[in-house]
This record gives sequence, structure tokens and C-alpha cells, in this order.
Amino acid sequence: MTSQANLPAAAPPRLHECPDCGQFQAVPALAPRMTVTCLRCDSVLRRTQTDPVGVPLALYCAALVLLVITAVAPMMSVSRSGLHHEANLFSGPVGFQKHGLWELAALVLFTTIGAPFITVLGNIYVLTGINRANPPRNLRVVFGFLQRLRPWSMIEVYLLGVFVAYTKLQDLVHIETGAGLWSLAALLLTMIAADAVSDPQAIWDMMDRRGLTRIGADAPGPSALACEVCGLVGRPAAGGRCRRCLFRLHHRKPDSIARTWALLFAAVVMYIPANVYPVLSFVQLGAGQPATILEGAQELLDSGLWPLAALVFFASVAVPMMKLVGLGFLLISTQRRSTWRLRDRTTIYRMVRWIGRWSMIDIFMDSLLVALVQFGGLVHIDPGGGAVAFAAVVILTMLAAECFDPRLMWDAAGEGSRITARGVVTGGAGEHDGPIGAEAHA
Ligand SMILES: [Zn+2]
Ligand SMILES: [Zn+2]
Repeated sequence: MTSQANLPAAAPPRLHECPDCGQFQAVPALAPRMTVTCLRCDSVLRRTQTDPVGVPLALYCAALVLLVITAVAPMMSVSRSGLHHEANLFSGPVGFQKHGLWELAALVLFTTIGAPFITVLGNIYVLTGINRANPPRNLRVVFGFLQRLRPWSMIEVYLLGVFVAYTKLQDLVHIETGAGLWSLAALLLTMIAADAVSDPQAIWDMMDRRGLTRIGADAPGPSALACEVCGLVGRPAAGGRCRRCLFRLHHRKPDSIARTWALLFAAVVMYIPANVYPVLSFVQLGAGQPATILEGAQELLDSGLWPLAALVFFASVAVPMMKLVGLGFLLISTQRRSTWRLRDRTTIYRMVRWIGRWSMIDIFMDSLLVALVQFGGLVHIDPGGGAVAFAAVVILTMLAAECFDPRLMWDAAGEGSRITARGVVTGGAGEHDGPIGAEAHA
């Protein structure tokens, strides 16, 4: 804890609900550069920053410039027998589209260009708007949308996909890197830095102070619900919506267990064609054969590139399997009202949620190979139906992880937390007069 002298003047503690375990707890006024973790499951509730507007704004402006350069400059160019091809950010989606795989084209376009562009432009809009004399009224809706878009911007996964594609291409064609690749790497670092210095809670507080939201001054009572998007704990406004970000409020994610099972089952069904059908076919001088995901990893191993083979195997075979098994385990243990290792099960949920996006490496790599290796009868690489099924597994398991509500594990074990007129009531831990405090550390 830092000394009390650094704390903002007389701000009262605010009630938060831990998104991972549902524990209501009071978060005190915080000095810059402090972290608040949940008392019960160690989830990070908030990280404060010295300048939550200026520094992220500068980084997002830099990211915008880099994103434009990355979108138009060539990342790599390949040549063979006098033929020459270049690839930029748009080449992958165009390559898939030419082969009739518009679903994959749309997916790659959205996760590598659409979502990052919206994230960067949206954050610039909010961070410049918040300090204007007349801030736009829609800032809260835009900012709420940006919080929900976060998992779908996959620049970092794309860069790894580019790296694997580059290594695969080396013994096939003559390859040169371009400015786009370096700006992609710089963009990745800038986006990570912008994420690290952001404090969304501080921006919501600024919107409250500037009168852009209608949070009301009443203390949260038994009818209070916590908002999944902005974290506000309060009485819902008309239509059951959050008074701050207008997101629809629920005590728990609606039909979480049934919807997660449905998505998981669909993912299991797609997992079979994803591994049986070829994701790519590589044709050299009219001869060649289609390769499944596993054969793709095997090929890397045979060329002596075992670190890459391990990466592809881990991202494309092990991760989807771990997600399917992990989510199934979380669902069954919740339905059986298990009290076994709740904290560890919450950690499993966080891992399943975090790791899912990395499986997209294979799809991104395929998009580049398909776009670049088109040398007519000499050599060409075509996408296979397995790629569509594999992408479906990745997206369905990501949606399943988003649908699952980890607070249900704690509820089912009799450890639910709720607000009463007297304070916070927690199953297991007993009743408390007044809120339970979260842990803050510098
Ligand atoms: Zn927690
Ligand atoms: Zn909200």
C-alpha cells in the first residue's frame, strides 16, 4: 500500500463485483499505479495509471499511423522463375476469397483489419472527446462497444502466423521482407503498450463526472446488478439497462450453461472435419497432396524446424482440445455443484478464455501461403475445406468461453455473494455488516 497522502481526496470506496467469482467487494480510492485484486480468486479488478488519457491517446495515434502503413505497404514479396508476388494485410482475405472461401476471407479481414481499426479509431475518438468542452453524448456507447470488441482484435496472433508462413516459404521460393512487416511488429508493440497503460475505469469515472452518464447517487441496494461492460454496481435503468453504458444488465449471463453446452457441442462436431480434411494442398509441378493440420506440423518437423512444429502443434491441435476438455469440465463440475478447488477452476476458466485466440495462427498462416504461392503449373498452394471447419472450432470455442459465466461455479458451490440492506452476504464466508474490501497493492 502506498501512503494515504497520495490518495485522491475523500473519494468513498466503491462496490465492485468480481467478474470471475461474483464476490462483491469495496474498492478504496486508489493512488496511480496500483493494482486491485479480488480477495477470493485473485482476479485483477483494476490497475490505475498516472495519466489514463494522454499516454494511451499518444500510443493509439501512433498505432493508427502504423496500421495504415501495415495495411498498404508490402509485408513480404516472393519470386520464383521470374514471377513475382507481394502480400500486404489485405492479401490473405483476397486469397481466400479467390478460392471461394468467403467465410474465411471475412473472418481474417475482421480480426486483422476491421477490429484493430475500430479499436484504434474508437479509442482516439473517446480519449479526445472526453476532454472537449462539449463531449459527444455517445462516448459511453462507443466506449462500451470497444470493451466488448477487445478479444476479436488479433494483431499479435497474426504476427506469429506471418512468422510461421515466412519460415515455411523459405525453401520454396525466394522471399524478401518489406516495410509492412516491420510496421506490423511495431504496431503489435504499440497496441500492447496502449493496453498496458489504459485504465477503463478511470475513463468511466471521467464520463460520470462530466455528466455523460446517469449513474445516480444512491448506494447499491439489494436490487443492484453489476454491469459486465463498465463494472458499475447499481439499480438498472428503464428496460433493465446499465445507467452508465446502456448494456443490458443480468444477475448472471442468461442461459449460460445451456448456451455454452450448445456452442461446445457444435465445436466438438466441427473438430472432426477440422482434423480429417486437408487445410492446405500444396501442388508442385502438377504433383502434390493435400495436408491436414497434423500433417502440416509433421512436415515442419521433417524439415528440422521443431520449434515451429511444436508451436503449430500446440496452437492448432493441443489448444482446441484443451479448450473443449476444459470447458466441458467446468460445465460438468458446475452442474454437479462441486465445491472442489473453486479458485483453481476459476484460473482454468481464465486460461481457456485467454488462450483461445492463439489457435488462429494456422488460419493466418494459410491465408498468406494461399495468397503468395500462386505460380501456375510450377507450384501453387490452395486452401482446403478443413480450414473452414478449423476456423469454426476456434470461433465456436471462443464464443463458448465468452458465454460461460464463471460466477455460476461459486453460486453452485453455495459461495454466491449478494448485497442486502445490511451489506454484502457471501455464502461460506458468512454475513458482513458493510462491504468487504478488495486487496490493493502498489
Ligand atoms: Zn474474484
Ligand atoms: Zn455498464
